[in-house]
Amino acid sequence: FDLKNDDFTKLDELGQGNGGSVMKVQHVPTGTIMAKKVVLIDAKPAERKKILLELQIMHDCDSPYIISSYGAYLAEPNICICMEFMDKGSFDGIYKRIGAIDIKVVGKVAVAVLEGLRYLYDIHRIIHRDIKPSNILCNSNGDIKLCDFGVSGELINSIANTFVGTSIYMSPERIQGATYSVKSDIWSLGITLIELSVGQFPFSGSFDDDDDDDSDLPHVPEHEESPPPQNHRDSLQVPLSAATKRRNRRRSKGVSLHGGPMMMSIIELMHQIVNEPSPRLPTGKFGAEAEAFVDGCLEKDVDKRRTPGQLFDYAWILSSRQNGVDMKAWAATF
Ligand code: ATP
Ligand code: MG
Repeated sequence: FDLKNDDFTKLDELGQGNGGSVMKVQHVPTGTIMAKKVVLIDAKPAERKKILLELQIMHDCDSPYIISSYGAYLAEPNICICMEFMDKGSFDGIYKRIGAIDIKVVGKVAVAVLEGLRYLYDIHRIIHRDIKPSNILCNSNGDIKLCDFGVSGELINSIANTFVGTSIYMSPERIQGATYSVKSDIWSLGITLIELSVGQFPFSGSFDDDDDDDSDLPHVPEHEESPPPQNHRDSLQVPLSAATKRRNRRRSKGVSLHGGPMMMSIIELMHQIVNEPSPRLPTGKFGAEAEAFVDGCLEKDVDKRRTPGQLFDYAWILSSRQNGVDMKAWAATF
C-alpha cells in the first residue's frame, strides 16, 4: 500500500489515548477498512526516518495474535499508523459495556496474550511494554490480538506527551526504574486478567477504603488554605484531598493519566503498587487454576515471577486452550 492522507475517508472515532487518537477509516483506492492511529510527534527529519524504519517491524509481523499493519506514513506534524480494524474494539471497552467477563473468555485472553508475547519476543526480539485491556482487541470472528507494542524506541522518545510510558499497569520494578523485561509484561497481564474477570481495575478498591485518611501519604487538611507551593514536592501534595474525591467519581470511567490533580493519584497508585501486597483474584470465585496463574504473574519479586515459557505450562492455560468456549458466538453477544 502507498498510503497518504488524501486517500482516506473518516468513518468513525474509535478512541483517544495518551499517545494519539484512533479513527476508523476507509482507504478509498482499495476499499479497505482500517484503523488509523494519528500520533503527534516532535522529531527532527533523521528521527522521523528512523521511526518509519522501526515501524516497518510492525508490517513484518505475521501472527494470529498480533494486529496486522498496512503501513505508516508521515503527515506533518503527525505520524499515521494504519492497522487492521478490529470491529469489537478493545477489552476495556468490552467489559465497560457488558460487565465482568466470563472467566473462560478471560482464559482465552490469557492464552492469546501469552502467544502474542511469545511471537513478538521469539521472532522479533520485541518486548510489548504496554499490555493492558485497551491494547487487547477483539473482532466478530472471536479473534483476540495485541496492538500498540513497542516496536519503535524512537517513536516513544518523540511523542509529544510527558505521560507516555507511564502506565497504571506498570510493574513494581519498572516503577523503581529497572529496565524493561518480558516479565514486566507478565505483571501487566496479571493486572489485566483481574480487571477483566472482576470488571474493575484491581487497585481501585484499596483507594476507596480510606477516602479521608490517606494514612502514610502526605496530606493537606481538608478546609485549610494551602500555602503557595514551595517546590515540586509541595505542589504535588496540595491537590491530594480534592483529587481523592474526584478520583472516586472518575474511577467508574477508568483512571486517566491526564494532568492536574490526577497526578497525585498516580503517584499514590505507584506507591501502592510498590509497597502493598500484589492484588489477587477473589478466593474461590474463579477456580484455583486461574488463581494460581494470576499469582504467578503478580509475584512482586521479578526473580520469582514466572516467565511466559513457564506460564504456558500452567494448568489454567492448558484447560483454557480447550475449554470449549465459542469465541465467535461470544463476540456476537454484544
Ligand atoms: P494509551 O494511549 O494510554 O495506550 P489507549 O490504548 O486507550 O490508551 P489508543 O491506543 O490511542 O489509546 O487507542 C484508543 C482506542 O482506540 C482504544 O481504546 C481502542 O478501543 C481503539 N482502537 C485502537 N486500535 C484499534 C483497532 N486496530 N481496531 C479497533 N479499535 C481500535
Ligand atoms: Mg492503545
